[in-house]
Parts: sequence; structure tokens; C-alpha cells
Amino acid sequence: MIILDFCKNKKFGVIGFGKTGKSVADSLRASGANVKIHDDNSNEKFDPDEKFDAIAVSPGISTLWPGIHPMIRKAKENFIPILNDADLFQRQLPNKIKICVTGTNGKSTTAALIHHLLSFAGQKSVVGGNFGNPVLSLDSSADFFVLELSSYQLESCNILGFDVAILLNITPDHLTRHGGMEGYISAKQKIFANFHERSAAIIGVDDDHCLKIFNFLKTIKHPCVIPISGNRVPQFGVGWDAGRLIDDRFGSGEIICEKNSALDGNHNLQNIAAAYVAYVRNGADQKKFREGLFSFGGLEHRQEIVASIDGVLYINDSKATNADSAEKALQRFDDIIWILGGRPKEDGIESLVKYFGKVRFAFLIGEAAQNWSHLLTQHGVKNEVAGTLETAVARSEKAAADLGAKVVLLSPACASFDQFENFEDRGNKFKKSVRKEK
Ligand code: ADP
Repeated sequence: MIILDFCKNKKFGVIGFGKTGKSVADSLRASGANVKIHDDNSNEKFDPDEKFDAIAVSPGISTLWPGIHPMIRKAKENFIPILNDADLFQRQLPNKIKICVTGTNGKSTTAALIHHLLSFAGQKSVVGGNFGNPVLSLDSSADFFVLELSSYQLESCNILGFDVAILLNITPDHLTRHGGMEGYISAKQKIFANFHERSAAIIGVDDDHCLKIFNFLKTIKHPCVIPISGNRVPQFGVGWDAGRLIDDRFGSGEIICEKNSALDGNHNLQNIAAAYVAYVRNGADQKKFREGLFSFGGLEHRQEIVASIDGVLYINDSKATNADSAEKALQRFDDIIWILGGRPKEDGIESLVKYFGKVRFAFLIGEAAQNWSHLLTQHGVKNEVAGTLETAVARSEKAAADLGAKVVLLSPACASFDQFENFEDRGNKFKKSVRKEK
């Protein structure tokens, strides 16, 4: 846990009492602060006009238009500073090296890979934030802090100024929370704000939104902007050519390694390129990169191979909570029995129509099931509303055998909260059903 010396004897309001809010309250209390909690879903509430030295806000709480939380509106009216756990952390440990990762997809994989690479090279690294443990529960004695930051967290971050800031990609997601695409993009690009002379900005240039931000960073004379790509070698950047990772940061086009690691799929090439730059940027042994990369096993619930039964692969891609991430799985596999659905995102699955020819049969679950069943039928994809994941898995085995499919793929393109606690719960239940465990 991180002790926040500067918060001693200060009075804090903590709004939102999920995993992050709890860790903020724990750190503040252990630091000798007076803490009050407000959570809409519990009995813990404080008076909106109560005076505090600062309000610490959880990622789930909106601090901006369009859905600003009423308690935050009040705090703003009363001129109370609003900050979050990453701000408290940055204020307490300004000299520790922070490597922060954001993007619509690939954040957790990239953050975990960077942490793995640094640890493999003998550095004292910890990883947390939106992935794993909250920022303030990390071990303060580490030298490198690899933090995954979501758009929700970035929205309420004020101090920023990270040593290495990574933006992987931007595609539509969480649009309701951010009031549309512009709000979402501006939250994401905050990762580069308040840079200092040692800051490095690592940015994926494979989509138009990020490309614009890259060009903008160049014009404002950011001290170090490094473009990365999953499908080419950007000039003075890092990317891929003929299956090899190439470092062209200094214009030399140095070959670093080939692509055969456990991180399969083209989307991971973008993640590897970003992780490589973060790794070498921090002075780690370049020679150990390849070994470190090849010893990384990938993360659970991201195109995870669960089983091979009668020649059919079962893949758990429960973390594919939007169309763009599900697209990566549909690109990778052929002859698919596809299990999809849940609580749909604003952009739906229209963008996936071009892969429908790979789908032998689809089983739909959750709130999206009826609408998406119509869409699939319109495009000639045979499908059935299975309702629950258990039913979908149970029927998939026969469907795969009857239709000669090679893969049963859970890649829902939806949030999980309509039927599950979270995407981990959904993925674990999928694995249990596949393995026929109780
Ligand atoms: P995040 O933490 O941003 O949600 P994850 O690393 O957990 O990202 O991966 C989530 C989903 O996105 C998985 O289905 C994975 O296959 C897919 N994915 C991973 N990296 C990328 C990428 N660079 N671009 C697009 N999709 C990706």
C-alpha cells in the first residue's frame, strides 16, 4: 500500500466505493487522513455541501459532461479540488518511473507484457491500475510502475506528466459516458498531457484518430514521440515487416526479433511494438527482450485456448467487450461457431459483417440476442438465441460436429454485466462449461 504523507490530517471525501475507491480510502486512512465515503449503492453518504480538502473520485464516477455526478457538480460549485488515485500516487511518488498504457484495446496485454519484460530483465517492476491491483495498493518500493489507465480514469486525472505514456489505438467505445467520440478521444489523449523533458509518447499510428494525435504531438514539440504499428514500420518508429519486429527509431531499421511468440494474432503485434519501446526506453537490456517476449504466456480471457475436443478448439475471448476486439478473433480463426452477445455497446456489430462468412453458426446470449439474431439472419448467418452461456456451450459441441467447424469462440463483442459479475466471471463460466466442471 502507498502511504500518502501529504494527506496526513487532511479531510477527504471519497466518491464511489468499488475496488479503487476502497483502496483510496485505505491508503488515506493509513496516512492519517480523515475520510468520508459516498456511494450511491450503499448507506454510506455525506452531505453534498460538506467541506473537504479534496474529493477523491473512483473511475466509475463521471466528472464531466454529459452525465456529471451530482456530488461532483456540488464539489465543483464549492471549489473543492477533485482528483483520483493516479493523482495521489503521482503527488506522493513524483520521482518513480511511471509507464502508463491506454487505448481502446490491448491495454492489459501491453501493460502485463511490459511488466513481464522488465521483471525478466531483473528490474523491480509492479503492474496495476485498471488491470489487477489499484494503483495505491502497489508496492511503493518498486522502481518501475506500469499502470493501465482507462478513459474513465484519465477523465479525472489532473497531475499526469508520465515518464512513458502509451496510446495504442482508438475505436468507438464508452461513448455514452464520454458524450460521444470527441469526449472519448479527449479523455484518451490526456495520457500525454503535462509532459516533461524526459517524457516519451509512444503512439499507435494504425488508426486515423491516433494518427491525428501523433501529428499534433509533433507540432507542439513534445520532446520524444515514437510511432508504433502492428502492420508496417513507421518512419523513426517501431513496427513490423515480413514477420519481424524492426526498430527504426534512429533510422537504422534494426531487426529485433521474429513474431512467433505466445502473443498470436496481428493485433498483438501492435502491443509488442509498444512494449518493446517502453522496455528499451527504460534502459533495459535489449538482448534480453526476445527471451523475455518468448517467455510471456499471454493473459487469461484474451483469445485463450481452453481445450481441444474432437479436433475443435475452444477459445475464451471473454475480454472482447466491443466490436473492434471481437474483430481480432474473427480475423484470426476460420470455420467458427461463434458465441456472442451480452449488454451491447453503442456501435453494435455492423463493422463485423465482413467476417460473417467465416461463421458456420452463431449462438446468442444476453440482452443483445434478439436484435443481433435478426442482423445475423439478414446476412445469411445461421443462428439461435441460446439465452445463457451454458446452453450456448452445450449446443456448440454438436453444432461444431454437424457443421465441420474448427473453433468454438466466445468473443461476445458486448459488456458482461447483464448476466455476469464481470468479463472474468463470464470467461471462467465458459471454461467450466467447456470442461464440463460443476
Ligand atoms: P484492454 O485492457 O484494452 O481491454 P486486453 O489486452 O485486455 O485489452 O484485450 C482485450 C481484447 O482486445 C481481447 O479480446 C484481445 O484479443 C483484443 N486486443 C488485444 N490487443 C489489441 C489491439 N492492439 N487491438 C485490437 N484488439 C486487441
